[in-house]
Amino acid sequence: MPQPVLVTGGAGYIGAHACKALKAAGYLPVAFDSLVTGWRDAVKFGPFENGDLADRAGLDAVFARWQPVAVMHFAALSLVGDAMRDPGRYWRANLLGALNLVEAALAAGCRDMVFSSTCATYGDQDGVLLTEDTPQAPINAYGKSKQAIEQMLGDFGASHGLRSVIFRYFNVAGADPEGEIGEFHRPETHLIPLMLDAIDGRRPALTVFGSDYPTPDGTCIRDYVHVTDLVEAHVLGLKWLGEGGDSRVFCLGTGKGFSVREVIAQSRLVTNREVPVTYGDRRPGDAVSLVCGSERAVRELGWRPLRSNLEAMIADAWRWHQTGGYRG
Ligand code: UDP
Repeated sequence: MPQPVLVTGGAGYIGAHACKALKAAGYLPVAFDSLVTGWRDAVKFGPFENGDLADRAGLDAVFARWQPVAVMHFAALSLVGDAMRDPGRYWRANLLGALNLVEAALAAGCRDMVFSSTCATYGDQDGVLLTEDTPQAPINAYGKSKQAIEQMLGDFGASHGLRSVIFRYFNVAGADPEGEIGEFHRPETHLIPLMLDAIDGRRPALTVFGSDYPTPDGTCIRDYVHVTDLVEAHVLGLKWLGEGGDSRVFCLGTGKGFSVREVIAQSRLVTNREVPVTYGDRRPGDAVSLVCGSERAVRELGWRPLRSNLEAMIADAWRWHQTGGYRG
């Protein structure tokens, strides 16, 4: 009997890929999702539990039903722009959701948690290579709510023996190379899927948010990680805890940043099509450059991000994009 792992946000982009990786590693991924931003069609690798982290009684029932050995916590609101406009929604959903989840897990005797945090907890550090030791200084409610959850996990570790592996990452891209699942948001806000929409005419053009940044070509720089590499790290984190490892924080990036213009140029090469582009204002809340190193994950978890090159990420995203995404 495979060991059950509760995957919150299991119908979302990264959560669904995590479920696939967990199944491949011999676990039973139980996808827990409110379907507010997730898709029922993305749940293909194990059972589905429709619920909301705000509902403690519902969570207790899920823990009683499946008795998971661990939790992978992805469910969260995650758009910087939304967080700037409506911080209360972010604090409520992310912080209270995580608190309910931790308390329900501990009440059920489940003490291992892999948590999806973010490099947004570092704020705008202006081109510094981010590592686990970089001081955190989040600048919006999204990053602040994630930092608060990290601290909360530490407190429950000290008092209740909760063990956590926290991953901080930023720009996740690409899709399942076998084409079963991929990135699909409504509305879409992320660079690569928006660019692919513009390439195949689903949108008139991609708007580049700012071309006067202090970078070599004037556009923002980000560190893009392939979603299959990212979820592989999560499985390694789960195994780390399963083998008795202590609570840890790991950054997941490639240590190499690409500007928006470089991503556009690579998309032109991969798809062999023109990218219709317009240039607009900077987007509020955007940092100039976010790049993170992951030597610790490589050294301690044995992480090997083999697909995290721009060409593979865009090629996999493009293949998925042409399927038209989920229906429901
Ligand atoms: N971006 C852009 N146009 C868009 C969407 C994004 O120029 O329509 C830029 C954005 O300013 C950032 C990068 O692309 O520099 C990645 O943005 P995305 O929203 O994909 O991820 P984020 O960095 O916000 O997590």
